[in-house]
Amino acid sequence: MEQRRKTRAVYVGPVQVGGDAPVVVQSMTSTDTRDVSSTLNQIDRLADAGCEIVRLAVPDQEAAQCLKEICRRSCLPVIADIHFHDQLALEAIRHGVQGIRINPGNIARDKFAGIVRAAKERDVCIRLGINSGSLEKDIVRKYGSPTAAALVESALRAVEYVEGLGLSHLKVSLKSSDVFTTVEACRMFSAKSDYPLHLGVTEAGTILPSAIRSSLGIGILLSEGIGDTIRVSVTGDPVQEMTVAYGILQALHLRRRGPEIISCPTCGRCEISLLELVEEVEQKLAKMKAPLKIALMGCVVNGPGEAADADIGIAGGKGMGMLFEKGKMMQKVREEDFISTLLAGIRRLTGEDIR
Ligand code: SF4
Repeated sequence: MEQRRKTRAVYVGPVQVGGDAPVVVQSMTSTDTRDVSSTLNQIDRLADAGCEIVRLAVPDQEAAQCLKEICRRSCLPVIADIHFHDQLALEAIRHGVQGIRINPGNIARDKFAGIVRAAKERDVCIRLGINSGSLEKDIVRKYGSPTAAALVESALRAVEYVEGLGLSHLKVSLKSSDVFTTVEACRMFSAKSDYPLHLGVTEAGTILPSAIRSSLGIGILLSEGIGDTIRVSVTGDPVQEMTVAYGILQALHLRRRGPEIISCPTCGRCEISLLELVEEVEQKLAKMKAPLKIALMGCVVNGPGEAADADIGIAGGKGMGMLFEKGKMMQKVREEDFISTLLAGIRRLTGEDIR
């Protein structure tokens, strides 16, 4: 694990991105932005699950209008996701968004300049979202295809343009549908610029494929100290993204939030219903916020070692198990009492009212 690369700090509302801030977790609502109450409800659920910045699609004038109410009531800083239309961006800025995500490859320069000036006036952070599907034609001609170097040239050109207009409240993302092109582009960009980088693997699929692709793409870069904010994309309820995002950060020892459950795959030695136990514990702890390492192990071969290494854990035996807490064997527990005993220990350790 390499040391985190030093970037300059920018702010999306009160949330610092880059500098000495921890890696910030963000998401994007999947609701229709014109449906204000559903959108606010999803923002609340995202915040509860650990999301720190939320992005909203602004496809038309009506959605832009709704941002006024959404920004006023949102518990998270709001970023407007804009494509093609400068008027939507200007309206979003007027209505109080704290960030704009814009792809410089799909908006005319003069319109882009208007957005940058409006953002500067209101101290709104801009994310330059460079995408392999919409690079400038001259850059694609130069490189023959949207290579990592092509993405970086596009990003640096956009950064220079925006800086020329006097705005440095910027973060950058470089994305390709190919994970390795994305990784290479982010490496190259971070060697040349200290603007904070937003990491994400787009179109990653449903939860399992997304977890795999995101862990690779985002995980490789974070392990090299690159990346200041992340978004895991999942086809489905975006709240699921939080589990994957914090799982990646937890595995890399970058941030801890909620339960980290260690469980063995079970084998012929297991004499308890471990799968049921793990599933029930996961479900009971779904809303837990305090970081806690919980080991649920099938037998005494690796069980006591793992359980003792965790904050709390159970190592199974024949229809019973041993409860460990902070490395100490506490008591023998009957299998039917596993859940109640574990939850009581978790309440004691975290102070959270988990039932
Ligand atoms: S902890 Fe025990 S039950 Fe689980 S995989 Fe290892 S040997 Fe098998």
